[in-house]
Amino acid sequence: MTDDRSRTDAGRLLKPLRKSLVLFVFASMAAAGTVEISSGHEPSPAIMAIIIDDLGHRYLDGLRAVQLPGQVTCSVLPKTPFGRKLAIRANELGKQVMLHLPLAAEFGEELEAGGISLDTGQQAMQRIVADDLDWLPFVAGVNNHRGSLLTRHPGHMRWLMGILASRDLFFVDSRTTPHTVAIQLAREQAVSATERDIFLDHELNEDAIRQALAQAIDMALQKGSVVVIAHPHPLTMEILEEVIPALPLQGIRLSSVPEVIRYRERHRSARRQTLAEAARELAGRDAYIQSANP
Ligand SMILES: [Zn+2]
Repeated sequence: MTDDRSRTDAGRLLKPLRKSLVLFVFASMAAAGTVEISSGHEPSPAIMAIIIDDLGHRYLDGLRAVQLPGQVTCSVLPKTPFGRKLAIRANELGKQVMLHLPLAAEFGEELEAGGISLDTGQQAMQRIVADDLDWLPFVAGVNNHRGSLLTRHPGHMRWLMGILASRDLFFVDSRTTPHTVAIQLAREQAVSATERDIFLDHELNEDAIRQALAQAIDMALQKGSVVVIAHPHPLTMEILEEVIPALPLQGIRLSSVPEVIRYRERHRSARRQTLAEAARELAGRDAYIQSANP
């Protein structure tokens, strides 16, 4: 009781101090989130991962995506007519290949081949994913196609992340629902994972795509990294072919998904450290003020 009261009194005394400390913590967090400074004290470019989803149904559109300049990631739907061919070409061109795994959607759209529904049990899921991975060569990671229903289910996500962990594959949550628990379950099972920030061509018109790209660039410059998902529409490809070569002029470097994951992990632990230091400092001031006001 006495302890509680003295803590409350100290809290009242500390109020202005806490306010400045909170500001200090936020300033430090903001600093931790900004673009990294390299050892030569030159600011490093911010990094952007671009994933092209839904590859495999149309060959020429897919080929155009696979041939985009620079480090673009190609995510291929399983069991599609041209999926394997495009994955092989992507690998030849030095691009990373992902499995674009169909997961059940909220509004009952038909589930594509090689996908997982709410009725799929753990063993069936293992069989389906193993089958997809046998079919598609060079897979380094997985992201979800649709999945607004399944990514909300911790049970299915736990099974899926268990499979990815055992195969050392990374995961990108496409975030087709704000209620997704995929990243949380990935972390629980130590799967390298991150999430999509921006869909580039959610709205398929030039203004909207350019606006989404500008937003992605802003986010990268502010936070140091951004993960973008686009689709192999001719209009999107045309804009990306034009914009990608100019990204370095805007302080952006295209990067692989694992590089973004590593970058974000480093900054997460830097933020945790900053918060722990701030908490220690606060405890120190608490003790000082309590000893000064016995
Ligand atoms: Zn998709």
